[in-house]
Amino acid sequence: MSTAPKDLAETPMAEKALAIHRRLCGVYGCPIPYFHDLDPVSELISSLLSHRTRNADSGRAFKALRARFNDWDSLVTAPTEEVQALIAGVTWPELKAPRIQAVLRAVQARAGSLDLAFLRDMPVAEARSWLEEIPGIGPKTGAAVLSFSDLRMPALPVDSHHHRVAQRTGLIGPKVDVGPAHAILRAQLPADWDAQKLYDNHEILMLHGQRCCFHRNPACGACAVLDLCPTGQARTESRRPDRTAALHP
Ligand code: SF4
Repeated sequence: MSTAPKDLAETPMAEKALAIHRRLCGVYGCPIPYFHDLDPVSELISSLLSHRTRNADSGRAFKALRARFNDWDSLVTAPTEEVQALIAGVTWPELKAPRIQAVLRAVQARAGSLDLAFLRDMPVAEARSWLEEIPGIGPKTGAAVLSFSDLRMPALPVDSHHHRVAQRTGLIGPKVDVGPAHAILRAQLPADWDAQKLYDNHEILMLHGQRCCFHRNPACGACAVLDLCPTGQARTESRRPDRTAALHP
C-alpha cells in the first residue's frame, strides 16, 4: 500500500520528523492516554461519523446509535431514514447514514459477520488494505480502526490538523493530500515504533494543530517547533519591523 520509499526513515526529513515528535511530546506529554476503548466495528462507525464533524457532535450521534440498536447488525437492517435522524447532529447525515450501512454490509459480506477482531492477526499493511478495499473506508478511517480501537495496532492516522502541521513544517509538500500523506508520514518514523508511539505522534500533531497551528492565524511566535518550521519562520520574518526603514526613514 505504501508508495513512500522504504528508506525514508533514514533521510534528513525523518530526522526532522523525530525532532518535531520529541519537541511536541514535551509540550503535550507523551504517552497520550487513548481516548477510546471500542471494538473495531464500533470504532469504524465512530470514525465514519466523525468526518468533518466536531468530536462532541459525532460522540452524541454514536451514543444515539448505541442506545437505539442492541447490536450493529440491527443498524444495518434499520430504515436509513431512522439512522439519518439519529445522527442528525453530524455533518452530512444524509450521506453518512447510507454509507455507514453500506460499509457494515460490506464487512458482513467479506468477514462473514460484524467482527473485525481477526485483523489483529494480520500485519498492519495487510489489515489496512483489507479495510481500505471496502468503498467508503479511506486511509484515515482504516488507520483509526487499527489504532484507536481495542486492536491497538501500530498504524498512523492523519486528520486535517495533523496534515496542516505536517505541510507547514515541510514534512510533506504543499500539494500532498491527506490520503497520500499517510504513507509518507508513516515512513518517516521508525519502522519498529509500537502502537502507543504512533498514536502519540498522531495525537501531538493533531493537538498542535488545534491549540497552536490554527487554520487561520497560527500562533507561530509561541510555537515550540518554530525553528523547524519554514512556514512559521517566513511568517515571523515578514512581520518583523523593517530596521533599515527605521534607521533611514
Ligand atoms: S511555526 Fe507556525 S506554522 Fe509552523 S508549526 Fe508552528 S504554529 Fe504552525
